[in-house]
Amino acid sequence: FFFTFFLLLSIFIYNINHHKSKMVKSAVLGYPRIGVGRATKKAIESYWAGNSTAEELESVAKAVRKERWESIKNAGVDFIPSGEFTLYDHLLDHSYNFGVIPQRYVEQKLSGLDTYFAMGRGKQDRAKGIDVVASEMGKFFDSNYHIVKVDHSPDTEFKLLNNQWLNEYKEAKALGIETRPVLFGPITYLSLVRKARDAPADFEPIQLLDKLIPVYKEVLASLKEAGAEYVQLDEPILSLDKAESFGAEFKKVYEALAPVAPKITITSAYGRVGKSIDYLKELPIHALHLDLDREPKQLDSVLEAIKDTKIDIELGLISGRNIWKNDLNASKALAQKAIDVLGADRVVVSTSSSLLHTPISIKVEKKLTEQQLSWLSFAEEKCEEVAALAHALNGQETALFEQNTKDIAARREFERTSDSAVRDRVAGITEEMLSRKAPFPERRAAQKKHLNLPKFPTTTIGSFPQTKEIRQARAKFGKGELTAEQYEKAMEAEIQHAVDFQEKTGLDLFVHGEPERNDMVQYFGEQLTGFIFTQLGWVQSYGSRYVRPPIVVSDVSRPAPMTVRWSAYAQSLTKKPMKGMLTGPVTILNWSFPRADVSKEVQSKQLALALRDEVVDLANAGIKAIQVDEPAIREGLPLRKSDWDSYLKWAVDSFRLSTSGVENDIQVHSHFCYSDFGDIFPSIQALDADVISIEASKADLKLLDVFKSYGYSNEIGPGVYDIHSPRVPSEQEIKDRIAAMAKVLPADLMVVNPDCGLKTRGWKETEESLTNLVAAARWAREQY
Ligand code: GLN
Ligand code: ZN
Repeated sequence: FFFTFFLLLSIFIYNINHHKSKMVKSAVLGYPRIGVGRATKKAIESYWAGNSTAEELESVAKAVRKERWESIKNAGVDFIPSGEFTLYDHLLDHSYNFGVIPQRYVEQKLSGLDTYFAMGRGKQDRAKGIDVVASEMGKFFDSNYHIVKVDHSPDTEFKLLNNQWLNEYKEAKALGIETRPVLFGPITYLSLVRKARDAPADFEPIQLLDKLIPVYKEVLASLKEAGAEYVQLDEPILSLDKAESFGAEFKKVYEALAPVAPKITITSAYGRVGKSIDYLKELPIHALHLDLDREPKQLDSVLEAIKDTKIDIELGLISGRNIWKNDLNASKALAQKAIDVLGADRVVVSTSSSLLHTPISIKVEKKLTEQQLSWLSFAEEKCEEVAALAHALNGQETALFEQNTKDIAARREFERTSDSAVRDRVAGITEEMLSRKAPFPERRAAQKKHLNLPKFPTTTIGSFPQTKEIRQARAKFGKGELTAEQYEKAMEAEIQHAVDFQEKTGLDLFVHGEPERNDMVQYFGEQLTGFIFTQLGWVQSYGSRYVRPPIVVSDVSRPAPMTVRWSAYAQSLTKKPMKGMLTGPVTILNWSFPRADVSKEVQSKQLALALRDEVVDLANAGIKAIQVDEPAIREGLPLRKSDWDSYLKWAVDSFRLSTSGVENDIQVHSHFCYSDFGDIFPSIQALDADVISIEASKADLKLLDVFKSYGYSNEIGPGVYDIHSPRVPSEQEIKDRIAAMAKVLPADLMVVNPDCGLKTRGWKETEESLTNLVAAARWAREQY
């Protein structure tokens, strides 16, 4: 008996070990921070408002961390991330933890937590004499997530102030959960932080590498000491061209870290590693992660490069960027390729990036149909997919995998049968449809007659204050407490107020004020076919700010006019010309979750055709000027320069397609919330808008030199004051601004407007500011 028992036992143990070493494992790179029921967001905002203590906030944070770990673990994922949870932003966490706290925050003598938040969002408390501005914010690669870029200068020192990674590793371990701690790799950290304004011209933060390495060693050694076997170092900078020249830096860093660290996996989310593979394959690391959602083609060459090294591969197959159910059979086939070359024990399947760009779970969505839900996969479901994929590769196809096969087939069928009329229309787009009937000078003459605007015409960017009353009316309408008719009356009253206000203030080109819009993208999505909306699909934008992007699920068309009714009503109230107001195709697409089955180009053109019809209908309704906002055209720029041209071509074509259906006398406007066009200036010019308005009040006027040097010849309204603060600019300030601008730009091309829409402002400051703006424009008419 004993003999048989030991024999069986040893076979059993052998099998376990054997299997363990020959199995594909699964990983998740990061998870949403918001917490179920928006717990984190609510706790942070309550703390900011002074309604709860730091301890209360920490206890919520701790519960959310537990909930996240358990959710990933219960899904069956092997490598569970820790240390990437944050109360504001994880790049800011690194700076703070490394003791990089610029003097202006130190001087406020705040608690650690308040110093941290002040670095993220500034702090003003006049009574206590506290007044400090936030660090700069920047977009995180091509996502809509924003990082906080703390100032670094040559004398920046790094000192481990708070070992968040060790703390959270231990916190999870105490819950019985083994995790893989996550940090930004040192090269990405230094590439993303900000160079202090007063730092010498030849300084770049990357020069601080030697000073930074010891802190990383300290953190990584502490993790190893605490028992961590693996660590994830995020180096998304690898998705950029510039990383290709960072070979020496990578070598230096990873040769220094590897001996003291747990086994290192370098991740490369957001794009392809490109030529950087030439040095990556030489590094003393355990594994390299690839983004195969965005860049599946890179797999073959990377496998070839690493097959004779000791480096394992982590396949980022489950998208961290979209909300679509993964095609697990397709992912399985790709992963099998890697297994064939490297063997199962050198392969991990993973998410393409952190899941922070996705909502938590589809399970809470009550308004979507079964069919719609069967297409989608949010963070929780993505964790299950990663695990199911690993299981399938290890020879056990789970029920989830089978269901996935069915759902994907059904989705493909739906895609094939959605709107063929729309697709035919896209296929039928001609060159002529992309151009206005005459060149700008001719159009301009026609528009002068049609609009009859003075020199230095004054206008605004579209929205007027979205007051509490407006939001309440919308909420009541949503709950059925107001009838459609009552709601429309309320909006008409707002429009009447906006028109009266502009009349009284003496503006020249009016707007209706956009009271009826909940959001500049959602408003259009709700009226177009092809979009669906979640109830709780919140995605982090920055800090405690979350957005709920609409989802494009099928071909897009416009069943009926969307804005004509409101613009026509507004025009009926005044003899002054009313500007129609639309969101452009590229911006609608960029601020939504796009489809994955057709290209962005096709989706953008479908949107452009819908908007083209709207533009024509507005013109037919007597609207003489139409603005098509494209603030997202620049942020949609691909990360690699070699991909720019094809993007810019369809982005520009889409704008032109949407605006070229009208006669020469219709003045087409566009608006951009930024002005650092730099490299893409020719594309801005190629939009051929009759008038563009840009953010310019905060920027150095040198930016306008770009317009001059390119010989920009259409009309332009560089914003004369900043709308992001309640501060009222004086008449003299605006005059000075106009005078400075008139030194660079031809006076007869200038339009006078604020930087952006006024929806976040109050009426009082809006009234005062615009009164001063009109006075300054009148002065300019005399001067030039
Ligand atoms: N027309 C929009 C508004 O005024 C433009 C918003 C934007 O540029 N982000 O609100
Ligand atoms: Zn703007």
